[in-house]
Amino acid sequence: MSQPDIPFPNSPVVPNMVEATHVIQFSCHKGIKCWNACCSNIDISLTPYDVLRLKTRMGISSTEFLKEFTVPYEMEKDGIAGVKFRPVEGGSACRFMKPEGCGIYEDRPTACRYYPVALVSMRKQDEYVDRDSYALVKEDHCKGHEENRRVTIADYRKEQGLEEYDDLARGWRQLVLKKQSSGPSIGKPTLRSRQLFFMACYDVDRFREFVRAESFGRLFELAQDEKDALLADDVALLQFSFRFLRQVLFGEESIALNAEAAQERLAKVKEKRLIEEREAAKRTAEQGDDGTADDD
Ligand code: SF4
Ligand code: SF4
Repeated sequence: MSQPDIPFPNSPVVPNMVEATHVIQFSCHKGIKCWNACCSNIDISLTPYDVLRLKTRMGISSTEFLKEFTVPYEMEKDGIAGVKFRPVEGGSACRFMKPEGCGIYEDRPTACRYYPVALVSMRKQDEYVDRDSYALVKEDHCKGHEENRRVTIADYRKEQGLEEYDDLARGWRQLVLKKQSSGPSIGKPTLRSRQLFFMACYDVDRFREFVRAESFGRLFELAQDEKDALLADDVALLQFSFRFLRQVLFGEESIALNAEAAQERLAKVKEKRLIEEREAAKRTAEQGDDGTADDD
């Protein structure tokens, strides 16, 4: 199952963007001669909600799930962290593929639910309102396109439980789109902001500890009952993590700050930046000195 992508030569993605009303001819069912072919060669990115569903199903923490079942990757050229399914050791098949089909069917990821459709979200500059379009993925091995069933993409999404999956990952998609469209003017995110993004989006159990920590409480003014409700509910906490990231990455304030702590923190950040700039200038000067010596 290939990862949906922007069309390029030889790509299985049909280079036509279509709307939810578009009718596709497709059916996948046990007994079809290509059964499991798509799960034998995977490249599947996971949304934060996919991770949440899967770690809950397995009864492990998100930290353990990420370590055991995923590999991190960098999305496009924007430096934003993503995670993909780790295939079987030494191969490309999905670890959850069983002869009878998907071993985690009720909690299968968004990309598996969408196949052979690809969701392509777009947004206008400085807007959080994203617009969904779809592309069709046609791979030679997939015989589902030859089956005699016609269905709109809207109905296919319903059938595959995608409305819930897309709704609960929308905040993450919007963050990614916002970063992608802010482009080089903002530049590659710092290591710290990439780590924060990774934790808040994918590692909900670690993010819970972060929110519970005293340092978070000193900086953000969150009513205790609101905080308790968040800490007790993974889905609510995940949605809060998107709000938190919009605030710390893009300055869109929606969580009240403790004014004194915020001033203190700002002063510390400024001091740290000053030290880093001085060190960078010192290194440049030293390299310059070396260069002069070499030229001589
Ligand atoms: S999660 Fe299920 S549907 Fe998706 S690739 Fe693995 S076996 Fe196939
Ligand atoms: S019809 Fe397509 S999606 Fe279904 S098993 Fe075959 S290759 Fe996979």
